[in-house]
Amino acid sequence: MFKSRFPYFSVNADDKNKNTRVYLDSAATTQKLDSVLLAMDNYHQEYNASVHRGAYQSAQLATKAYEQARVKIQQLISAKKADEVIFTSGATESINMIANGLSINDLSGTTILVMASEHHANLLPWQAFAKRHKLNMDVIELSSDGIFSERELSRLYEQLSDDIALIAIAHVSNALGNIYPLEDIIEKAAKHNIVSVVDGTQALAHISVDVQKLNCDFYVFSGHKMYGPCGIGVLYGKYEALTALAPSKLGGEMVVDVDFSAVSFQMPPLKFEGGTPNIAGAIGLGEAAEFVKNNIEEIKRHEEKLHQYLIRQLSQFDSLIMVGNSAALPTKNNINNHDFSEHLSIGTLSFTVKNQQLNDLALYLSQAGVAVRVGHHCAMPLMKRLKLQGTLRVSLACYSDLKDIDYLIEHISHFLRLDESQARLHALTETKSVDENKQHFLLASKVQQSRGWDNVYRQLLLASKSLRILPQELRTSLTSVSGCETDLWLAMADDRFAAYSQSKVVRGILALLIERADHNISCGIHDFDYLQYLEFLGLSHYFSEGRRDGIANAIKTIDVIMKTNANANANAKTNED
Ligand code: PLP
Repeated sequence: MFKSRFPYFSVNADDKNKNTRVYLDSAATTQKLDSVLLAMDNYHQEYNASVHRGAYQSAQLATKAYEQARVKIQQLISAKKADEVIFTSGATESINMIANGLSINDLSGTTILVMASEHHANLLPWQAFAKRHKLNMDVIELSSDGIFSERELSRLYEQLSDDIALIAIAHVSNALGNIYPLEDIIEKAAKHNIVSVVDGTQALAHISVDVQKLNCDFYVFSGHKMYGPCGIGVLYGKYEALTALAPSKLGGEMVVDVDFSAVSFQMPPLKFEGGTPNIAGAIGLGEAAEFVKNNIEEIKRHEEKLHQYLIRQLSQFDSLIMVGNSAALPTKNNINNHDFSEHLSIGTLSFTVKNQQLNDLALYLSQAGVAVRVGHHCAMPLMKRLKLQGTLRVSLACYSDLKDIDYLIEHISHFLRLDESQARLHALTETKSVDENKQHFLLASKVQQSRGWDNVYRQLLLASKSLRILPQELRTSLTSVSGCETDLWLAMADDRFAAYSQSKVVRGILALLIERADHNISCGIHDFDYLQYLEFLGLSHYFSEGRRDGIANAIKTIDVIMKTNANANANAKTNED
């Protein structure tokens, strides 16, 4: 809908081969709005100067634009005054500034309460704070499938008491997309004098935010998740909360008076903006704020419609398991038995797929030009509670469209069908392939002859089935190979190489390496460049960043085993002689 406002999507627009840019990772970072880029360019080219200092014209223009950006953000989040908006480098810095500047004397309870789905950025500073001040940590629970409904809300209300000092909670979960009913929660928390810190990083681009209505003490977010630049973010605080908060970034510009042994600070916001700020970033963020403010109703409508469509399309895959509030929304496969009816999720959707390595699926999608994220999404405690290693997350934004979703679904469908058809083919040709494997480099030659990612992928899947699997009891820390995003083991078992990884793609690559290593052993070749070999097979550019080191380490392990064996054989021979 707003796609034409985002230059990222028009790069190589007329080159069909390079043009697939299905960007579904907006929860990680959003694409940048044209007016954001223009405003930043204008500042750099036309009035580049530092703020709050010089009397010359550029400095005045820069200060004016910087302070105007503050006002635009005040308007976006409906803060009472612009002085409650502090520019930081991002949500992480904002939360650390609160945790480092809060006085324990301003807190009444002894426990910090955090939401189970919290991003590490809104967990680790509080863990450190609790340790420093000898406070307890407690968790707001979700259901076993990551849902927050009336049931979980009632449980949370029971947790709120005078014993709670502070509640740290996201407005929207980055890992699940859940929108939390903060207005009600904070109203109840305030009755117990609980300080509220809201991480709004995933909210601003997708829902309306009114900090006065929320009545939270602090609200933080990052520019790059709302169409603005990286390296800029906001710490909002009620003015009295900011007055009480100690500054943790000390230096130039934030003081009224300094002596060698004493200092008096400026009032907020300047007392928190020590050093030369990210002026271009603030100006860019101001533009992004204006765009979101002017369009938020249309954005919400558009994203809600896409989200519903995405849920419906994904629910056609029986092996796909959604987590988070999206899983509770009614679909044809899922009769909603949760006790809320409102739309309580943004268009961020997390899921796993039965019997599939999500990294394989993400790699497959990436080869087709689709950007999605796999992993714990910086919410490891949540994944542990959900008993998952991670999820595949699809995250929408205002520029997403039906075509993006259709393209995604087509390729997920293709991936799953490919897998089924390989299993059938393997069953049919099992006997034959055992015989064929007696020939040298059968797997390698098939990969090398394949053209295009689909065919290479198909051959890797087939190769993975030929891998000599390292028995479970031998998968220990001694045989583990580090550096791969999925667990990987490689060793000698019964005088032959064997290996294991949950990823089928990695298993395929290991099978190719072992096929070659087996041959090298039989021919007495001890020096061989396996990495170059994979390159020669045309595979190296298919290694994802998260696997490159693991594969390199697997090769080192093969080398070490080969050389150790060669030495042992040589010694045995000398002894015989
Ligand atoms: N909080 C949430 C919910 C996030 O999604 C993120 C980033 O992924 C952060 C905090 C940290 O943001 P930043 O890295 O911009 O400081």
